[in-house]
Amino acid sequence: MDKAKVWFMNARASRFLESTAIKGRQLLEHSGWLEGLAPGDIVAVKTHMGEAYNVGYLRPVIVRTLVEALKARGCRPFVTDTTTMPYHPWISRTLALDHLETANFNGFNQASMGCPVVIADGWLGTDDLTVELGGRGSYLHKQFVARAIADADAVLSVAHFKGHPAGGYGGAIKNLGVGCASKRGKMNLHGALAGDKPVIAPDKCLKRQCEWWQTCQDCCPEGAIEVSESELKVDLAACVYCFACANLCVNMAGVGAIQRFDHLPALGRRIADSALAVCRTKGPGKVFCLNYAIDVTPSCDCYGWSDTPIVNGVGVLASADPVAVDKACMDLVNQAPGLTNSEAEDHGALAPGAHKLNIIKGKDTEPQMQGGAANGLGTDQYELIPVAQDRGQGAIATFYPEVRARKLKAMYARQHPLAGLDAASFGRATEAMANPIPPKK
Ligand code: SF4
Ligand code: SF4
Repeated sequence: MDKAKVWFMNARASRFLESTAIKGRQLLEHSGWLEGLAPGDIVAVKTHMGEAYNVGYLRPVIVRTLVEALKARGCRPFVTDTTTMPYHPWISRTLALDHLETANFNGFNQASMGCPVVIADGWLGTDDLTVELGGRGSYLHKQFVARAIADADAVLSVAHFKGHPAGGYGGAIKNLGVGCASKRGKMNLHGALAGDKPVIAPDKCLKRQCEWWQTCQDCCPEGAIEVSESELKVDLAACVYCFACANLCVNMAGVGAIQRFDHLPALGRRIADSALAVCRTKGPGKVFCLNYAIDVTPSCDCYGWSDTPIVNGVGVLASADPVAVDKACMDLVNQAPGLTNSEAEDHGALAPGAHKLNIIKGKDTEPQMQGGAANGLGTDQYELIPVAQDRGQGAIATFYPEVRARKLKAMYARQHPLAGLDAASFGRATEAMANPIPPKK
């Protein structure tokens, strides 16, 4: 397979048009992907709109700016995400109702996006299309793809590149593979249909001494958890591996009697299989990926918090190949020096070249990319192409269609804001000031 093209703009900015949002649109236009879309094409703009109280997710303006580019091409974009598994008892995106409320809370709605915001797998996450993988999957034979995304003519993945507790990292492959799967698709890629179950260590349970025991019992939709004065019982025959209890015991009770559900490398490869299923719903050239390697937090936007970044902002990367764009992001993050007062320092991963997320997560974060290379989703061989920003008159007219200061001349002529003021009584002139002490009142 030839090397994939990955276009790149650095995160640094000091002048007009050097906004991260504008860089994303300029990379999209520079790539030529838009020319492969026909006017009227329905385009799913897949992004993560953030868990409630998370502050690391991509800012709405980044997505809106891409929506504008698609509309300028004559396409019909919609901004989208899917219902989640109940990753913890307080999850705010597991019903379409909750997800839309959270999206609105976080600044994503039809007014802010300039197009509909759609939860692609419906009310409870069962509106989907079953996609056969044709024997190409490492783990999955078929997968459930969210209906609205499966039915769209094209998908634009808009991903925040950062660490992830189970997948190792989150980028394009995960945005497609997990983010475009319906709720039952997420259960499938986490291993529920293959028979995976949580790991139970009943001896660690604090039983009813645990302040969370009632929540622990109540959060299981199958009624499989029972906590008495003397024991923790989990009926694994009834358990559907839904994850509702996944983070409660570790994060809140702090003991891990019902343990986390990480199972790399199987999970990483299942995510890549799921991403392949999503791509199989589209014709050639109808999937494109933008990765924003900014606010590179050690964990994902599904948490209700965001830690300090582990490296400085890297930039925006774009490719038609989800594997290549993730690999390029990972390489740039690893090449960067780590930041103090972050998990990079906590785990001794500050050195340029250190495999930061591997060290921080204590595991190999490569399986998503390895799985994507193995199943033909893409290639980890890439050519990184720096792209210079267009800062010409045409570009400024795109993003700033009016010179708004031009309006002021006529307005000031009618009512000047400084008219009638005794200017000298308000302070001293700056020019030639020898002693810059403020005047006494
Ligand atoms: S949260 Fe953990 S420690 Fe608390 S009752 Fe449930 S299993 Fe036991
Ligand atoms: S015990 Fe199984 S079904 Fe019940 S909440 Fe935990 S993972 Fe879900």
